[in-house]
Amino acid sequence: MPTGRADQNLIKRLNSALILNHLLASSPQSRANLAQQTGLNRSTISSLVNDLIEQEFVRELGLDEARSRGRPGILLELNPHGGCIVGIEVNVGYITVILTDFKANTLWRRYIEVDEDIAQCDMLSLSEALIQEALDAGVAHGLRPLGIGLGVPGLVDRQRGMLTYSPVLSWRNVPFRDLWSSHFGIPLYIENDGSTAALGEYYFGVAKNRQDFLYLGTGIGLAGGLMLNGEIYRGAGGFAGEVGHMIVESGGELCGCGRRGCWETLVGPRAVTRGIRHALANGAPSLIPDLVNHNPDLITMHIVVNAANKGDQLALDTLSDIALNLGTGIANLINLFNPSMIVLGGNLTLAGDYLLPPISRIIASEALHEPASMVALALSVLGMDACVKGAIALVIDQIVREPIAHYTT
Ligand SMILES: [Zn+2]
Repeated sequence: MPTGRADQNLIKRLNSALILNHLLASSPQSRANLAQQTGLNRSTISSLVNDLIEQEFVRELGLDEARSRGRPGILLELNPHGGCIVGIEVNVGYITVILTDFKANTLWRRYIEVDEDIAQCDMLSLSEALIQEALDAGVAHGLRPLGIGLGVPGLVDRQRGMLTYSPVLSWRNVPFRDLWSSHFGIPLYIENDGSTAALGEYYFGVAKNRQDFLYLGTGIGLAGGLMLNGEIYRGAGGFAGEVGHMIVESGGELCGCGRRGCWETLVGPRAVTRGIRHALANGAPSLIPDLVNHNPDLITMHIVVNAANKGDQLALDTLSDIALNLGTGIANLINLFNPSMIVLGGNLTLAGDYLLPPISRIIASEALHEPASMVALALSVLGMDACVKGAIALVIDQIVREPIAHYTT
């Protein structure tokens, strides 16, 4: 049966995506190698690769000298000069913005701290100014802007490009795409911070190319990201992954979401500082008051780990409680999802030495034997940059899925 023009266009779109995907996963490669990997014939590969080179998403590197037989092919890779991408994380107390090239090399970076109770309009103006600075840096590098990726804490409506509700920011219905996509004249892709961080780990971090893993990171709350079958799992309405709000202690501490006993009330930074303040008020001996000039507002995970390193019993007990509560929740998630890796990120990475050994023991004793035996427990290598690097991946992911939609005529 002859294929119509519409079918041919669809096939061309899918095959261009296939080629770019292979080059993203493994570069450099020759056209012959791509033909072998994708099953497409040489002339199809040549024609589609020529388009990708013309659009500057792919470039030729030189001859494949390693090829032992036949004529050496020209090696291809993603073209870093294909354009620039802005990644931004807007979160409680800070904004991080980076600008990268099309190969995700960071060209420019800003991190600013803001008051936790800053007005929404001020936070948005600061973000817009930083995005503009990033885009100006892109122009200075001679790169066309490809898009903005945004990670935010809370429930996100990706279709409409808006933050629906963020308990930790106390924001509702912020239409980021309407605000920024038209203002800057480029596409905007938005995702929940935990899912964005998981994507960062998948593309650039410790979980590179793992098809099934869970990301858990603490900032103010506990963010989760579920990578299942090589895709971020979003659920029916895009709201999946909110593991921090699993209720694990009925009638427990009040959570930012307005309910009681959520997991993040036991393992998040607020749980750490609350527990320490309570113990200090009850006269527990500790180095921590001296480390924060007797101002309990200055107690952070960094301070607690610092005290633990000096042998402080209160700090060690606090981290041990966090490990216990994290471990039990993780064991349940392992039974549910059978992941190949659990990635601990955010400021949990600061306490890795104190958290990983007890959590591993809890997983071994509390999760079912088979899924427990195949899971690796790892610390994020991207740390606090997992989300903003993932925001870059949001844009690259869209282009690789449908390169032709991003062609300039
Ligand atoms: Zn909650």
